[in-house]
Amino acid sequence: MMNYRGLRTGRQRSGILPIIALVMLSMATSCNQSNPNQGRTSEQSPQAQEAASTPIAQSGKTKVVTTFLPIYLFTKAVTGNVADVEILVPPGTEVHEYQATPENVKAIATANVLVKNGLGLEEFLENTVKNAQNSKLTEIDASKSIKPLNEISPVVKTDKEEEDHDHEHAQGNPHVWLDPVLAKQQVTNIRDGLIAADPANKAIYEANAAAYIKELESLNSEFQQTLQKTPSCTFITFHDAFPYLAKRYNLKQVAVVQIPEDQLSPTDVQNAVNAVKQYNVKALFSEPGVDNKLLTSLSKDLKLTLQTLDSLETGETDPQHYFKAMKANLQTLETACK
Ligand SMILES: [Zn+2]
Repeated sequence: MMNYRGLRTGRQRSGILPIIALVMLSMATSCNQSNPNQGRTSEQSPQAQEAASTPIAQSGKTKVVTTFLPIYLFTKAVTGNVADVEILVPPGTEVHEYQATPENVKAIATANVLVKNGLGLEEFLENTVKNAQNSKLTEIDASKSIKPLNEISPVVKTDKEEEDHDHEHAQGNPHVWLDPVLAKQQVTNIRDGLIAADPANKAIYEANAAAYIKELESLNSEFQQTLQKTPSCTFITFHDAFPYLAKRYNLKQVAVVQIPEDQLSPTDVQNAVNAVKQYNVKALFSEPGVDNKLLTSLSKDLKLTLQTLDSLETGETDPQHYFKAMKANLQTLETACK
């Protein structure tokens, strides 16, 4: 299975990581990053705190809990102010390997609706929902009817990767929100789920969703128009978050590189260099908040620029943040792919 620890934080020392491994994307779906903000996970966001202590009766509004940032953004866009929307995973904390808190259980116990990304991403939910014992809870799976990607481009892999592959992520890659077209589907699923749970506000949910979907459509056009100039542009990421985006706009997220925590051997570097030659890689993408020392030295060896692509797993809680971050990603891709 994939292990991104060394790259994601440089903080958690978890033993020996695989050597440089350019692996098939199908194997890279596990998203097993550690949490760079782990020290902060116990701090609830202001919204979460407020929400946990606000029973339904007080506001009279439908209480909706969402799992993590993109799902919060989409849900908030659809509800506007007619529902109380909370987020379980604080916006500065990553969803992968998130550990639920007692406040999370309380929030779900008093909620009318729970919205999740689905596709196996929110592993913490299963027990949390069970412990909340809320028989009236409506669950919305934002990825309902989205066909997950499992395989894209084969590259180089180590024996270890091969062994570990089979028991990983039967549900496919969960990062569908990074494709504006699939994001539209998620917003639609959330809208329909909210209407079913709270029909009194149907007209408002429809109007808000329509406005947000319109923005997603123009974002999609912008991506299309910009990236059609650089077809098959190939990039390497260290977090397998962009296969849907790549597929949509005819880019190639060829590989996810794993490098050892402590040092690169000459062989490791040579393997990466060979792959870069073989696949005509244009860029290496890291993510905001990642310790880049190893990646910087690797990128120098490979004579590639190291840039930042945002998976939106953390960030601001304004629904417009999605567009801001995605437009920044588009600019990064445009520059890198030239
Ligand atoms: Zn991820």
